[in-house]
Amino acid sequence: MTDLRAWLPRAVDAVDSWMERFGGSPGHPTLAVDDSALEAAFTALSKRLENNYPFGSPRYVGQMLKPPHPAAVLGYLTAMLINPNNHALDGGPATAQMEKEVVLDLAAMFGMKSNMGHLTSSGTIANLEALWVARESHPGKAIAFSADAHYTHLRMCGVLGVEGISVAVDDLGRMDLDHLQRVLQHHDVGTVVATLGTTGLGALDPLPGIIDIARDSGARVHVDTAYGGFFALIADDSPDGVSSAPFAALPEADSIVVDPHKHGLQPYGCGAVLFADPSVSRFYLHDSPYTYFSSDDIHLGEISLECSRAGAAAAALWLTTQVIPLTDSGLGQVLRADRRGALKWAELLEGSKNLKLYQPPELDIVVYFPDRRTMGEIDAASAKLFCDAAALPSEQRIDLATYSVDAQGFTARKHSIEADRARARIMRSTVMKPESAVAVTQIHATIESLLVPDSTHSTLTTEG
Ligand SMILES: *Cc1c(COP(=O)(O)O)cnc(C)c1O
Repeated sequence: MTDLRAWLPRAVDAVDSWMERFGGSPGHPTLAVDDSALEAAFTALSKRLENNYPFGSPRYVGQMLKPPHPAAVLGYLTAMLINPNNHALDGGPATAQMEKEVVLDLAAMFGMKSNMGHLTSSGTIANLEALWVARESHPGKAIAFSADAHYTHLRMCGVLGVEGISVAVDDLGRMDLDHLQRVLQHHDVGTVVATLGTTGLGALDPLPGIIDIARDSGARVHVDTAYGGFFALIADDSPDGVSSAPFAALPEADSIVVDPHKHGLQPYGCGAVLFADPSVSRFYLHDSPYTYFSSDDIHLGEISLECSRAGAAAAALWLTTQVIPLTDSGLGQVLRADRRGALKWAELLEGSKNLKLYQPPELDIVVYFPDRRTMGEIDAASAKLFCDAAALPSEQRIDLATYSVDAQGFTARKHSIEADRARARIMRSTVMKPESAVAVTQIHATIESLLVPDSTHSTLTTEG
């Protein structure tokens, strides 16, 4: 693996020697800190950071979290030493240019013809921006999204003062097209939000059908691929790829959101929003007396809701994509490995006596539950499994996550479970690191042993 210990001094040297040309930065007594005070505080910081989940461990298979790639760290830290602000070219022409290049790469990954778009600090802000443009293009009209869409869509409809309408999902958590049709008949909907890769189940909404239905009633289509977007690189219906049809329809979307800080190997915060129609830039017109004077070229702040944004985030994504390009043979290989891990785990779950697969994974999220008779028992067993797995000795410890489902969710997937309560927690694991993907057999075996009362897990080894 890339050794950051070797590279990080290069970051300091590169920026220092460039600054030398300007006479260096001399510092000031007010900014001087005592080395021993810093030493003590840093020691405390390192200690406090140990209060964390081991995201980088192969056995961390919980939430959508992982450390950034070393190339992203190197790119981020090097640029951060300069601290450019990608709001305006006055704030950092180099990283603004890098941002334009990575946005082009993202647009190409989706087959989008326009390069109107930019990075954001998160998927939420990127979606807010897309919904704001939706409102400006279809004033007074509602926005529809599936019941399994990210919770922030409803929240942002509130922020924007737009009615948000929930569309039912089918038996696998994908937007139900019949219900969408009815919603569009009975409400004045200006925009339909499709999700490619729901945050809960990793489900892919049927985008081609959504586009047809939305177009028939003159509605826009926004696609939230915050989590799932990079799977476009392997959307080829091959054994370790994902379904091609939803991704093939992306070029017809009006806007797309993707989070490089989820599957793009980036640190937080790096989201992105892209628009098919460059003329939506008209909505952003504003007067900024203190910026935009250094160049007539487009300043990213002129097409962004946010003002200050880290140029370092663009540098990080740029450097990463130089060495792991947004192609099937680049980042696609990482995603294929994840996908193989998810499929392998699903296969193990299907053959398991103690665990049941909730539904087949469409991307790399695997959802499963302890085989019990009632929802109450499933909830209790899931909660216990979550705690027991994390309580294993640290070199065996497994970090999982839970997901709350209702009785209808079980029935839709043909699991006959007695509904003695409204909701139950089940298990949800994101296999978003190739290191985890190769460890799923071992992870699964350990989880099984935790569910079998008479087994002892002290005999398990930690082979990767
Ligand atoms: C994660 C996620 C979001 C929110 O993105 P943040 O970067 O966490 O703000 C929105 N939509 C989907 C589908 C997501 O998975």
